[in-house]
Amino acid sequence: MTCRELIDFLADYLDDALSSRQRIVFETHLLVCPACRDYLKTYQHSIRLARKSLCEMEGKTPEEAPEDLIRAVLASRSADPGRPAS
Ligand SMILES: [Zn+2]
Repeated sequence: MTCRELIDFLADYLDDALSSRQRIVFETHLLVCPACRDYLKTYQHSIRLARKSLCEMEGKTPEEAPEDLIRAVLASRSADPGRPAS
C-alpha cells in the first residue's frame, strides 16, 4: 500500500468499513510509515476540532453532528493538515 492509497482508505478505516484484510494492510502501512501515523493523528484531531466548532455553531452535542457534514467542513477548511508525500 502506498501513502496515497492509505489516505484513500482513511475515512473507511475510521468508519470501521474496511474488510479485515484491508485493515491489516492499512495497519501494516501505519506501522512502517511515520508520515502516515502523523497524518492519521492530525486528521483525527481535525475531525475533533471540526465537530466541536460545528456543534458550537449549531448548539448541538458532538454526538449529534453528522459525519458527512464534518467531512464537508474539513474539506473546506484552509487549515487542511495536508497529505504526506508518497
Ligand atoms: Zn505512508
